[in-house]
Amino acid sequence: NKQVVLKHYVTGFPKESDLFLKTATVELKIPHGCNGAVLVKNLYLSCDPYLINHMKKVEENYADSFTPGSPIVGYGVSRVVDSSNPHFKKGDLVWGITSWEEYTLIKSPRNSIQNQETDDVTFFTVPGTFCKILHTDVPLSYYTGILGMPGMTAYAGFYEVCSPKKGDTVFISAASGAIGQLVGQFAKLMGCYVVGSAGSKDKVDILKNKLGFDNAFNYKEEQDLNAALNRCFPNGIDIYFENVGGKMLDAVLLNMNLHGRVAVCGMISQYNLDQPGGVHNLACLIIKRIRIEGYVVNDYYHLYPKFLDKVLPLVKEGKITYVEDIAEGLESAPGALVGLFSGRNVGKQVVAVARE
Ligand code: NDP
Repeated sequence: NKQVVLKHYVTGFPKESDLFLKTATVELKIPHGCNGAVLVKNLYLSCDPYLINHMKKVEENYADSFTPGSPIVGYGVSRVVDSSNPHFKKGDLVWGITSWEEYTLIKSPRNSIQNQETDDVTFFTVPGTFCKILHTDVPLSYYTGILGMPGMTAYAGFYEVCSPKKGDTVFISAASGAIGQLVGQFAKLMGCYVVGSAGSKDKVDILKNKLGFDNAFNYKEEQDLNAALNRCFPNGIDIYFENVGGKMLDAVLLNMNLHGRVAVCGMISQYNLDQPGGVHNLACLIIKRIRIEGYVVNDYYHLYPKFLDKVLPLVKEGKITYVEDIAEGLESAPGALVGLFSGRNVGKQVVAVARE
């Protein structure tokens, strides 16, 4: 059983060498005395920026630290290969929290969304918190992205936090990523004017030519972010979907319209800094009566059935596109995860461990 293990707590920017591959033995059936357990084979693992919070030794965080020497724990798509639990049978496909290894034994799996356990703050953090996959006529890897946690994050952030309406001008940072690409497409479907920023020419091309954004720019090539935003939004920004923080947020605040809304989904530019900062224009919040709201997807999983009803048909009818970056094999997992913090991923970063 190959595993991807945390070597030590990460300080500063993560490196591939903070993780290592280890082989442990595993019985390919439920051991005696493990009533209620399931054994899953992990098919796809999800590389998500939040994992860095668990890889650091943190006192004040919404995340608990992982234990060095143990496999990374995160979202994935798995197949049940043995079960002594009445709610899961051999062959079931699930998405949810698993470990970064080939096979995972889950002592007490929970069938989460169906139970609507949304008042539980540990919701979707404990291995074995699963949601059964009922629709398999889409790529299974989509349950790490558009049909899983990032999809739900985009949906909750845009529809529940941004208060969008037709004709709004919408700006999205890290726009070609797992969440950003979806927010942009939701906004276009609503009839908004949508602009995204991303960190390479290829990503900008994808935003404009594949995902239907009205405009996009490479923030790494702009001398002056305020000028770039001003160029793309001559009439100002009504909604900012924040994924990066820092200098970008500062420049956006100068370009927001009266009664603008900012949904703070993430601030990836800040996660690995000793001294986060770079925001000086907060007084704009007052003058422009801006509403800024941070949110965490865990508080919105009760909307998952509604989300699936909306998004699944859009995917099947080809009205929404999803760009994935699939790294092959567990060996590629450390590089894929670390690559999120330098923008190496083009679209949702997934690790394919096994195809079936
Ligand atoms: P992405 O797929 O967008 O991958 C991360 C991207 O961030 C990179 O590809 C890179 O794109 C960009 N990036 C990395 N470092 C920097 C930097 N220093 N400055 C600017 N951009 C940077 O990730 P996700 O879509 O999964 O996540 C997007 C955000 O949402 C993250 O901040 C994440 O923490 C947050 N999040 C929040 C959740 C919530 O519940 N609130 C749930 C899940 C995620 P580029 O090449 O464009 O720079």
